Amino acid sequence: MHHAVEKILVSQEEITKRCKELAKEICDDYRKQNQTPYLVALLKGSVPFLAELVKYMDMDIQFDFMDVSSYQGTESIGDIKINKDLDGSVKGLSILLVEDIIDTGRTLKEVTKMLKNKGANDVKVVSLLDKPSRRTVDIQADYVGFEIPNEFVIGFGLDYDQDFRHLPYVAVLKPKFYE
Ligand code: 5GP
Ligand code: MG
Repeated sequence: MHHAVEKILVSQEEITKRCKELAKEICDDYRKQNQTPYLVALLKGSVPFLAELVKYMDMDIQFDFMDVSSYQGTESIGDIKINKDLDGSVKGLSILLVEDIIDTGRTLKEVTKMLKNKGANDVKVVSLLDKPSRRTVDIQADYVGFEIPNEFVIGFGLDYDQDFRHLPYVAVLKPKFYE
């Protein structure tokens, strides 16, 4: 275990198993609707999750990345800012937003609204983690990997000041690292 880690919340094995389940559920749903999801992953935190998820998606999908920011240190702040937009038009696309974690929900609410305004046919959300107790705006993911308690987590894409994204599991950081 990494020296900065207090405890592991979700192991590598649990993540892989859940990604396989989510991939199947997502593909089944989109097939039923005769739609092909266009995955939009929010940088940088969702990269490991996107990579794991798409391995098990048994249909022809495409993905792209957006970078929006609203978060500094351990507290969410203000409105979101677009640092990197999608390469192409979203007109008519069935978008599946891929997130690392839903906290207050503000990021997803804003990004969803923006993509719909730009002409997306449909916007759904898959998030590896969900902290429902922290929600301040009314938004729900269509697919969630794991619900977690209100603790600041790192690993599997999630950072503390850009560190620890590479850890293969989701963990709680030792308090001495952010105190
Ligand atoms: P929201 O807009 O839902 O409040 O914030 C979502 C974003 O905040 C996530 O994409 C993530 O970047 C960041 N975030 C929220 N909770 C945590 C956490 O426990 N750990 C880390 N590393 N980032 C978090
Ligand atoms: Mg994020």
